[in-house]
Amino acid sequence: MKKLDQLNFDNTFSRLPDIFHSRLNPTPLPHSYLVSFNASAAELINLDVTEAERADFADYFIGNRLLPGSEPLSMLYAGHQFGSFVSQLGDGRAILLGEIKNSNGEYWDIQLKGAGITPFSRNGDGRAVLRSSIREYLCSEAMHGLGIPTSRALCIVGSDAEVYRETIESAAVVTRLSPSHVRFGSFEVFAYRDQHEPIALLADYVIAKHFPDISDAPDKYLRFLNEVITRTASLMAQWQAVGFAHGVMNTDNMSILGLTFDYGPFGFMETYDPGFICNHSDHGGRYAFDQQPQIGLWNLACLAQALTPIIAVEEAQEALENYEPTYFEHYTELMGKKLGLTNVTKEDASLVTPLLEMMRASQLDYTNLFRSLGLFKFAPDERSSELRDQFVDRAAFDAWADVYRTRLQSEPGTDEERKARMDKVNPKYILRNSMAQSAIALAERERDFSEVDRLLALLSRPFDEQPEMEDYAAPAPDWARHVVVSCSS
Ligand code: AMP
Ligand code: MG
Repeated sequence: MKKLDQLNFDNTFSRLPDIFHSRLNPTPLPHSYLVSFNASAAELINLDVTEAERADFADYFIGNRLLPGSEPLSMLYAGHQFGSFVSQLGDGRAILLGEIKNSNGEYWDIQLKGAGITPFSRNGDGRAVLRSSIREYLCSEAMHGLGIPTSRALCIVGSDAEVYRETIESAAVVTRLSPSHVRFGSFEVFAYRDQHEPIALLADYVIAKHFPDISDAPDKYLRFLNEVITRTASLMAQWQAVGFAHGVMNTDNMSILGLTFDYGPFGFMETYDPGFICNHSDHGGRYAFDQQPQIGLWNLACLAQALTPIIAVEEAQEALENYEPTYFEHYTELMGKKLGLTNVTKEDASLVTPLLEMMRASQLDYTNLFRSLGLFKFAPDERSSELRDQFVDRAAFDAWADVYRTRLQSEPGTDEERKARMDKVNPKYILRNSMAQSAIALAERERDFSEVDRLLALLSRPFDEQPEMEDYAAPAPDWARHVVVSCSS
């Protein structure tokens, strides 16, 4: 395990030509203090966890001191924001310190989010607030706990500095770790400028680093696009299956590796509502929950378009046609597993649709209903139960249960074995807005970060029964249904 000054930096992105980034140091912030430290993320970069106890630890992760070996820079990109192309965005408040190569040979970008103004800040202040930093920190780790590809979070450091949003808030920096921060928009920026060379160079870079198996293929760029399509389709299926809404699926927030990242006004769906809009600023519902899969495709089409200088148009179009079948295959598989099925087939989709419809009609909590589906008993005389009684239309449930029961005949094992399988894919705990909000309120009001740490521990094991944490599995209290989450962060 390494001390802070021994981290094994190998900054490959920094070695790309200057056109891809802008070199600069973080802007210092006064009176910094550690809010939370995530030991499991520290392992990824071989960081000795006792380093978090150093008096100067916070200074390194708020940008007041530089880690030896880092080569700070902000990345350039463009993006389609809510459907409109913005020709230049870039890291307006994030600074990539560099990449750490760990003892397994894996590379982890280490990035400070909220580290000050950059050449890409436009009208922004380069800062992030404590509130949104806590949300990103908890959610990225919650997603990891759920087994969904995501950026990770090492720590949050706060500062006394004031930041102006709808109200005055305090500044914070969240340190993100990710195998890559290259986005769809990282390619779009050069396509717009009609600069073909950097497109090929960036594609070569990403392929060599992340898809080495295809680097010698004559059609490597097409294969690369196919990889991104497959991964994005799989990611969308995972979001839909778990009930996660990202909130700002702009192409600058779409990872080239199919990871969830750039957490803003995200939300886990609580009461099942396919039209759920988690982002208060998304008036048209462009990024509503049930729109996500098709937006994934729309965004991939933007990427494919940007890659046309290096891929034939017809081939790119053909590749995009794989998205929908790939998405449905993954989604059906995941939903089948949520029903406890082991050999999921296409036909099983016909079990899912009516179940979701009944959940909508009964306004049930998506997460909790699936968890309680594990209680389903194969014995056909089960006509009143904790599960059945949640549905308003019991007759509809009984009819569905008969079909489900018939399907279960071709599944092996006992009720208990099926429940055990289901409990591994139907989480008990998700990050509800009310939970994040309680942790934020305590942090803001009293500088008490214990709730952040408590949630971090809870959400790292979302499938396990944690009896002393039972309250966190309850649907949101009434006040929390009105917590407004917007793009302001
Ligand atoms: P987002 O959709 O939140 O990922 O951000 C879109 C763009 O706005 C990115 O280029 C961000 O770097 C930039 N941005 C967001 N907030 C700020 C801020 N407070 N200061 C500077 N740039 C920002
Ligand atoms: Mg972003």
